[in-house]
Amino acid sequence: MSNHDAEIIDGNLDSSILRSIECLKNDQLIGMPTETVYGLAALASSTPGVKKIFEVKQRPTSHPLILHLAGFEELDKWAIEIPKYAKDLGKHFWPGPLTIILQRSNLVCDEITGGRNTVAIRVPNHSVALRLLSKLNDGLVAPSANRFGKVSPTSAHHVVADLGSDIALVLDGGHCAVGIESTILDCTRAQIQILRAGAITKNEIEEIAKLNVDESDGEARASGMLEKHYAPNCKVVVAENSAQAVTRQIELENAGVRAAVLDFCDNINLYAKQLYAELRLADANDIAVVVAVLPAGNGLAEAIRDRLTKAAASDQS
Ligand code: AMP
Ligand code: MG
Repeated sequence: MSNHDAEIIDGNLDSSILRSIECLKNDQLIGMPTETVYGLAALASSTPGVKKIFEVKQRPTSHPLILHLAGFEELDKWAIEIPKYAKDLGKHFWPGPLTIILQRSNLVCDEITGGRNTVAIRVPNHSVALRLLSKLNDGLVAPSANRFGKVSPTSAHHVVADLGSDIALVLDGGHCAVGIESTILDCTRAQIQILRAGAITKNEIEEIAKLNVDESDGEARASGMLEKHYAPNCKVVVAENSAQAVTRQIELENAGVRAAVLDFCDNINLYAKQLYAELRLADANDIAVVVAVLPAGNGLAEAIRDRLTKAAASDQS
């Protein structure tokens, strides 16, 4: 840890990739852009680096990390007994916001998986992350670059604001294009199961896997499955539609409570992209309550509802 905030460097420069590799090889952590959210990255082969992720995030070690790879071709090194449908999914959706849980190979250390014999893997769809990964001959474990339970970062500045003193540098890759964490799919059981909703939908998965997704509730193994997560400092309340949200905001303001409405329901992609930045902005502007409209529909809309409902979970602490 240092007294200085980490430097933000241009992820498109070769020199920035080289500096990042040097830091990672010295067991340091860096902020890395992906299309979903910014990741807090360590080399998968660096046990000290992996341990640092849990310390810096203040994340329980029972919440395993997603392993990011340079391409589908790397999959065989890190996972074993891969079902054909899982390969089909990787080939089709990678690089992209789909994380697949598989049996791990012995390249994956216990610290990454919390001792499980399974590992969560994805190939991020971001040119900076892919360039870095392609030069590593290793994987990168990278949960979202924020403290556990808090709002995910979708810009390099968000990463510095949250973790600036604990990391070596942040590769700037602009604002994240998707803005919401990946869909997580468990492919280690008799039936495939979505553990976390994301941009890749159940229907898309079923079409490529040629299997039905098990819709029963899984055990809360993904941190995003905890009842409360993704929470800003302000209180989040949800509304079913715009009119309800505005009424609630007026009631709150009349009672002397600073309130704001969050509603991009007419543009779901923009809603996902802006969601976390807006929650952060509300905190910066001393908003006490954000009234967020729940978008209708599946895919990203479902993922947004999931994040908002968890941000709104009642045990505000
Ligand atoms: P994130 O919080 O974005 O880092 O998402 C990673 C999530 O994937 C965590 O919440 C984990 O609980 C879940 N996950 C990662 N690895 C595994 C695994 N081997 N088995 C089950 N879930 C996993
Ligand atoms: Mg996270």
